[in-house]
Amino acid sequence: MRWAQLTLVENDPGSYDPRFWLDYFRRTHSDAACLSAGGVVAYYPTQIPFHHRSAWMGDSDPFKELLTGCRKMGMNVIARTDPHATHQETFDAHPDWIAVDAEGRKRRHWASPELWVTCALGPYNFEFMTAVHREIMSRYGVDGIFSNRWAGSGMCYCEHCQKNFFEAAGMALPRAADPQDLARRKYIVWRQQRLFQVWDLWDSEIRKLNPSARFIANAGGGALSDLDMKEIGRRASILFADRQARRGLAVPWANGKNAKEYRSTLGRKPVGGIFSVGVEEPYRWKDSVQSEAEIRVWVADGIAQGMRPWFTKFSGVLYDKRWLKTVEQIYERHYRAEPYLRNEAPLARVGLVYSQQTAWFYGGPRAQQKVEDHTLGMYQALVEARIPFEMVHDRLLEPDQIRQFKLLILPNIAALSNGQCDQFRDFVKGGGSLLATFETSLYDEWGAQRRNFGLSDLFGVGYAGKTEGPMQNSYLSIQKDPDSGTFHPVLRELEDTPRIINGVWRLKVEATEKFRSSPLMLIPSYPDLPMEMVYPRVKNSVTPELYLRDLGASRIVYFPWDIDRTFWEVLSVDHAKLLRNAVDWSTNEERPVRVTGPGVIDVAVWRQKSSLTVHLVNLTNPMMMKGPFRELIPVGEQKVRLKLPQGRRARKVQLLSAGRIPAVSELNGYMNITVPSILDHEIIAVDLN
Ligand SMILES: [Zn+2]
Repeated sequence: MRWAQLTLVENDPGSYDPRFWLDYFRRTHSDAACLSAGGVVAYYPTQIPFHHRSAWMGDSDPFKELLTGCRKMGMNVIARTDPHATHQETFDAHPDWIAVDAEGRKRRHWASPELWVTCALGPYNFEFMTAVHREIMSRYGVDGIFSNRWAGSGMCYCEHCQKNFFEAAGMALPRAADPQDLARRKYIVWRQQRLFQVWDLWDSEIRKLNPSARFIANAGGGALSDLDMKEIGRRASILFADRQARRGLAVPWANGKNAKEYRSTLGRKPVGGIFSVGVEEPYRWKDSVQSEAEIRVWVADGIAQGMRPWFTKFSGVLYDKRWLKTVEQIYERHYRAEPYLRNEAPLARVGLVYSQQTAWFYGGPRAQQKVEDHTLGMYQALVEARIPFEMVHDRLLEPDQIRQFKLLILPNIAALSNGQCDQFRDFVKGGGSLLATFETSLYDEWGAQRRNFGLSDLFGVGYAGKTEGPMQNSYLSIQKDPDSGTFHPVLRELEDTPRIINGVWRLKVEATEKFRSSPLMLIPSYPDLPMEMVYPRVKNSVTPELYLRDLGASRIVYFPWDIDRTFWEVLSVDHAKLLRNAVDWSTNEERPVRVTGPGVIDVAVWRQKSSLTVHLVNLTNPMMMKGPFRELIPVGEQKVRLKLPQGRRARKVQLLSAGRIPAVSELNGYMNITVPSILDHEIIAVDLN
C-alpha cells in the first residue's frame, strides 16, 4: 500500500547511513521498498563481466544490507536496475551494444559523457541484462525487479537494429517522423514487439527463480505513451506511474489522470504513483525539495484516483531534509485511512476514451496539439463540473469492459477501426450514450483518412469534405427551440446571451438524420480589423454547430468543432458550461455523487468491500494552473449528495482527514453530507449496513 524507494548514487556505500533509511521506512509505515541493485552500477558483489561494481563498496554488499533490514520489518522488496547507460570497458569489449544515432555515431551519454548510451533492442538488454536479472534473483530471491529506462533513449540505428528491422519489415530503418511513412509506421509496431519480447524474457527468467516474483517495467501512460497500454495491462501484475511531480504548465489533477490511465488497462491490479520530493523541471535539480503544499496536493490527487503512493529519493546522503516530515505525515494519514483505500471499484458512470493509436498514426509529431490537448480540455471541464469519471482505453471496448459506464466521451478520437466503431454502436444499442468532438472516427486505425466518419450513422451527420481554421472572430448563436420556445438543457446558464465564442477549427458536415433544431448555430468569421470592419456579415445563422440525438435511453452529442482543444487553450467559461451541460444531458441520469460549493475540486467515488468513499481534492489555489503551490488554502462548505447502493443503508459516516462525524441525512437512497471545509484532501468514508 505504501512504497519507499532509495536510489543509491555510486559513492553512497560507506558514506550514507542505512539505519537512518530503514528507520524512515518504519516511521512511514512503508510496506514495500524498491532498492538499487544493478545495471549501470552494481551495488552487490556481481560476478558478471562488465557489470560495473560501485567503486566505493569494497568488499561490502550494500544491496543485501538494506534488503535484510527491510525483510526484518516484513517488507516486500523489489530490486531496481537501470540498463540505459554503460562504461568504457563495455564499449571496448562490445561496441555493438552501444546505441547509434541517425548519422551513424555511437552515442555518448548526454549528461555523463564518460558513459555510453546502450541499445535497448539488441544483445545488451537481451543477453547482458538477462544475466544481471538472473543473478539478482538467484542470489537474493526478491519479489520483483523494477527496471528504469529499459526501453531505450530514442531511435537507435545500430547494426542489430538495422538487421533485425530489415528482417522483420523488409526495409531500412525510417528517417522520416511522419507516421504515414510506411517505414515509420512499421517501426512503431516493431519496436514495441521487441520491447515486449525483452519484457517477457526477463519476466520468465525471474519467475523461473521465484514464481511469485515479476519483472516490473517502468512503463505506461496515456495517449502519448509509446507502448500499447492494452499489452502492458495484460502482462503486468502491478505497475507504477513514474510522474514524479508537475513541471511547466502542468495541472495538479495530472497525477489523478495518470492513475486513471493506468487503471484503465490494469483493472483491479495494484497501481502505484511514483512521486519525487524535488523539482522536476528540465534543469533536473535532482537533489532539490518542493514545498510541502505542492507535494501534498500532487500525492493526494493520485491517491484519490486510486494510486498507492511511492516516494522516491536519489542519494542516500541528504542535503535538504525538509521533505522528510511532509512525506511522513502523508504516509501516516494513508496508513490510518487504509481500510477505506482498499478499493474494489470506481462508481463513475462517465468514461473518457483515450487512444494511443490516434496519437501514433494520426497525431505523429503533432500528437500533443492534435490529440492530447483535446483530452486535457475535456478533462479540465469534467474536473470543473465535478463529474466523477474514468479513463477508457480504445482497445478495451468489449461489453464487460465498458458496462459500468452510461456515457463514453470521445475527445477527437480520430483513428478508429471499423471494429472499434462497431463496439461503440453496440454500446449505444445497449442504452449507452456518446459525446464526440471534431474528427472522431474520420480516420482508420492506421491514420488514413476516410471519406466519411466511421460513426456517421450515430452522429446523424456526414463529413462534407472540408475543414475550416484556424478561425478568427467566429461565434455561436444561442437558439431557443422554435416549437417550445424554451432553451435546451445544454444551454443552462447561457440563456442570458445571444451568442458565445466559437472554437478555432470546424468541420463542414451535413445532417443525414432529421434534427428538430440546433441549440447552437454558426456565426461565421468576420474581419477583426480595422475596427470599422468588425461587424457580422451574415444575418441569420443557417449552420448547426451542435447535433443532439435522443434515442430513448441513449443520447448522442456531436460537436463538429474543437470545443475541447479550444477550451484547453483559452479556458472560456461558456465552453466549460456547455461541456458540463452536454455531459449531464447525455448521461441522462443522476450523478452518483453531486458536490456543491465553491472552488475547484477533483471528485472520485469508490466502493470497498463494505463501504463507500468520496474523495474531494481541493485544487483551489492561485498556483493551480502553474505550480508549485505555496500554501494550502482551505475551501468552504461543500454539500455532498451521494447515491447509496440499492437496498443498502449507511451505518456510519466519517470525514477521515478532519477526523470528525459530519452532519448527514438520508432520503430515498441518497445521503446528504455537509463537509464544512477541505484543506487539501478530504475522504468521506461511509460504512454500509
Ligand atoms: Zn540498436
